[in-house]
Amino acid sequence: MLELAKRSITYLPGVGPKKAEILQKEAGISSFEDLLYYFPYKYIDRSRFYKVAEVSGTMPYIQLKGRILYFETVGEGRTRRLIGKFTDGTGTIDLVWFKGLSFVTSKYLPGNEYIIFGKPTEFGHIVNIPHPDVDPIEQASQVAGGLTPFYNTTEKMKKAFLNSRAIQNLQYTLLSLLKWQLPETLSADILQKVGMISLPEAMRNIHFPESAEKLKAAQLRLKFEELFYIQLNILKTSTLRKSKLKGIVFPTVGAFFNTFYAHYLPFELTHAQKRVVKEIRGDMGSGRQMNRLLQGDVGSGKTLVALLAMLLAVDNDCQACMMAPTEILANQHYVTVMGFLKDMDVKVALLTGSTKKKQRNEILPAIARGEIQLVIGTHALIEETVVFHSLGLAIIDEQHRFGVEQRSRLWMKNAMVPHVLVMTATPIPRTLAMTLYGDLDVSVIDELPPGRKPVQTLHRYDNKKAQLYDFLRKQIELGRQVYVVYPLIEGSEKLDYKNLEEGFQVFKEVFPEYTVCMVHGKMKAADKEQEMQRFISGEAQILMATTVIEVGVNVPNATVMVIESAERFGLSQLHQLRGRVGRGGEQSYCILVSSYKLSNDTRKRLEIMVNSTDGFEIAEADLRLRGHGDLEGTRQSGEGIDLKIANLGADGQILQYARDIAQQILNEDPELSDETHRILNERLKSLYKKTVNWGMIS
Ligand code: ADP
Ligand code: MG
Repeated sequence: MLELAKRSITYLPGVGPKKAEILQKEAGISSFEDLLYYFPYKYIDRSRFYKVAEVSGTMPYIQLKGRILYFETVGEGRTRRLIGKFTDGTGTIDLVWFKGLSFVTSKYLPGNEYIIFGKPTEFGHIVNIPHPDVDPIEQASQVAGGLTPFYNTTEKMKKAFLNSRAIQNLQYTLLSLLKWQLPETLSADILQKVGMISLPEAMRNIHFPESAEKLKAAQLRLKFEELFYIQLNILKTSTLRKSKLKGIVFPTVGAFFNTFYAHYLPFELTHAQKRVVKEIRGDMGSGRQMNRLLQGDVGSGKTLVALLAMLLAVDNDCQACMMAPTEILANQHYVTVMGFLKDMDVKVALLTGSTKKKQRNEILPAIARGEIQLVIGTHALIEETVVFHSLGLAIIDEQHRFGVEQRSRLWMKNAMVPHVLVMTATPIPRTLAMTLYGDLDVSVIDELPPGRKPVQTLHRYDNKKAQLYDFLRKQIELGRQVYVVYPLIEGSEKLDYKNLEEGFQVFKEVFPEYTVCMVHGKMKAADKEQEMQRFISGEAQILMATTVIEVGVNVPNATVMVIESAERFGLSQLHQLRGRVGRGGEQSYCILVSSYKLSNDTRKRLEIMVNSTDGFEIAEADLRLRGHGDLEGTRQSGEGIDLKIANLGADGQILQYARDIAQQILNEDPELSDETHRILNERLKSLYKKTVNWGMIS
């Protein structure tokens, strides 16, 4: 049997070395299989023909039937373009080409009847159709009358004549080459059990839908398959890990934990905190290695829970470490932990990128000898040079910023596999959690410490700045502090910094009587630290920042969070930012500033923020509105879930079903060694051969 995954795309007729390179670079397509699994992102119904007379510039893709009257070339240099006057008897419209002019004039003949397909655009009151698909009327049965797939293509792909249409043609060439047959990727018992169509039928209909119903069946089958293998992989490795990996047993609740609990705990734990501490204790005492995800909304008190867990490790003669994604956060954790521990005899060290060499030279040997019991830090913790004496617990805060590989380094070098507690303040929707952390046990702190007043959220347009400034002034007069945050979007950093910089100048002018400070990611760590400190100490009343303050910063006296260009943030990110206020006893406010012109979706998103303070509800809504692709934490290299067809926002039921089936199969046959599961085992291996060993690391 021809192995599709191994067959290079260069073997496909019509794909030369140049196209192959572009397909690989731009779309990640390097094998036959990659191409087949490059699915359309939408379909457009081409069963309807429009009349030229009814075409307007606001229409989506449309289809016309008629004749090109003549071609003419107009413009000079970069505006040089080819116009084809097109008519169907109800009027004329211009078809426009900026590229491939001679190709067009040689291929399409005036007078012949064609089917035109494209998106009308309006240019100075004149409607035309740029770069339409043109097909001879004889091919109508092939191109029109049904659902036409659209494939994602980039500018570079289009320049190399690899537009959506060309991709579909490649699919046709490939499927014909394979005689429309493909080796099945699901075992017979599953196909039968779940009643799904075969792979060849699914592939045919996903690229060349026969009907809306067939397309749906194809999508279902392929979504199921995709989610099924992800779950099978996660569950298989975690099943094996649970049976093979021994955890360090922490039998004792000893002096450190008890002393802290009895004498140093500054407040009663919430019920939720107590429950989670119990769950963690249960895990670490069980002899199984703990792999737990701790989810808790911002401000729910995860740090204290983390500290209690670390003290348990110390009670059992082990070291513990806590990794934070940024230096600011690591510093803050360090200060918080030191503050909690007061004069208790626990040795704590802080290790970050800016720890001085001299200090480092003292800390590292002390960690290696086991004298330092708790280490708090950043990525610096996972560098080669850091060797623990007996690491028993690794806590990863705001974990989504750590890649799988980074995490793995933490314990690859340890003789024992430490217990792992992953903490996240970004509530993760259930479907996403099942996919990203499907093998972790989950604890949830679903209760805020008492006495918190919910943050009031307001949405304001950026043409009403004067009122905003008045409001801020009143708050500052009451002795409070204000955050002002600007977005930072990949690719437009320069502009973002300019916005922040300009905003900073404006605020300094508007509030001359107050101190305004500023932090952003481009600053040196020391400068950043200094500016942050000015705000934390209360010297500065207003802190202007990019999203570097998103996670973890704790200044209870800050009661206002102003988010500029709020429309450019994801919901979960807005929620995170909002969590920076409302940490003291005073009423706090979050003000979302946006431009007046908003898309419906964006308006909806901001409304959700105004109406809800529940992080889980918000995360679910975010997933529904934006899809998992845009969600924080799913894009990082190595960590991302690259779903080609399933959508975690919409396909929760299929996911649950796929997971259940995968679990059933593994319950009967954990190693997938049974002959009936041979297909599954082989497919799993071919899909995951490149990835890290998940089960061992998370
Ligand atoms: P997060 O879960 O966002 O990391 P933190 O651990 O920073 O939350 O806690 C937020 C604030 O609540 C801190 O100031 C912390 O001291 C305080 N806190 C934590 N637990 C309790 C509690 N049980 N009662 C009162 N305040 C608490
Ligand atoms: Mg925190």
